[in-house]
Amino acid sequence: MRARLNPLFPILVLMGIGFIGIIAQERAFTPPDAVTRKFAIGETRFLPGDQQKAFSETRSFSPKSEAEGIDWLANHDEPGQTFEQFLSARRNLVQPPRTKLYVQPIGEFSDKEKAVLEQVKAFAKIFFQMPVEMRPVIDPAKHQITSRKNPGSGNTQFLSTDILTLLRDELPADGYSILAITMTDLYPEESWNFVFGQASIQERVGVFSFARYGEAGDPKYLQRCLKVFTHETGHMFGVRHCIHFQCLMNGSNSLSETDSAPLHLCPVCLRKLHSAKAFEPRKRYQQMKTFFEKHELADDAKWTAGRLKELAK
Ligand SMILES: [Zn+2]
Ligand SMILES: [Zn+2]
Repeated sequence: MRARLNPLFPILVLMGIGFIGIIAQERAFTPPDAVTRKFAIGETRFLPGDQQKAFSETRSFSPKSEAEGIDWLANHDEPGQTFEQFLSARRNLVQPPRTKLYVQPIGEFSDKEKAVLEQVKAFAKIFFQMPVEMRPVIDPAKHQITSRKNPGSGNTQFLSTDILTLLRDELPADGYSILAITMTDLYPEESWNFVFGQASIQERVGVFSFARYGEAGDPKYLQRCLKVFTHETGHMFGVRHCIHFQCLMNGSNSLSETDSAPLHLCPVCLRKLHSAKAFEPRKRYQQMKTFFEKHELADDAKWTAGRLKELAK
């Protein structure tokens, strides 16, 4: 329930700021064994054949690795969430009228950055098999968004909580969620150096800065943007951090940990997404493969091709 009541939780959930102040005592994390992973997926025997296959553990999936140092699971007690637990958790259901995902650009974007926004939108449409709409750019100067110069770098930063307040009023009547993207750095309160993003699951709003992901135009940059957008939207669906497999929904404490997480869901999280918003697994993977090939994400394209082979058998 903490995820719903504490608006700061999703920041930690996201990635990033954990390493600034949360390195306390290292916690022991034991990667779940095969029986535990199967239990997390749950009973699939009564599902149609294509779903049984899609939600089975195969060679395409790696069990969650050990955690050490500043890794998320070495610093956070994560109970994990089985499919059954997901079903009984409080979550935002995808149902009319709230059926559409919104992307909200804030501030200025170069042409290359605008292209990335469009790619994030296109990928979210495939990933969630839902309509995704780009909202007109918000000019921060026309709204009450507190800003400052970062004391260290001198770069401009927006106060993320002001943006969340603004987004609450901007969520359209048919919006399942509205996630804002800005190229300006963010801070959540005066004492913090920066934050990658902040979200309120209960209020279906979030804001993320792509300022620290590298150079727009680089496939690695795009990959990071796609990961953060889909991971956070996954939380909106009620999917908690994954501890069973190497998975997009793994918690992350740093950019390098984010880079090492895959851009796909494990069988447990895929089943959760499917139960929230039904889709045809092979069609979805086929579209993902086409997207990855188009945008030079070779490893992701290769993984998806392998999945399609598994599901074709
Ligand atoms: Zn998260
Ligand atoms: Zn997972």
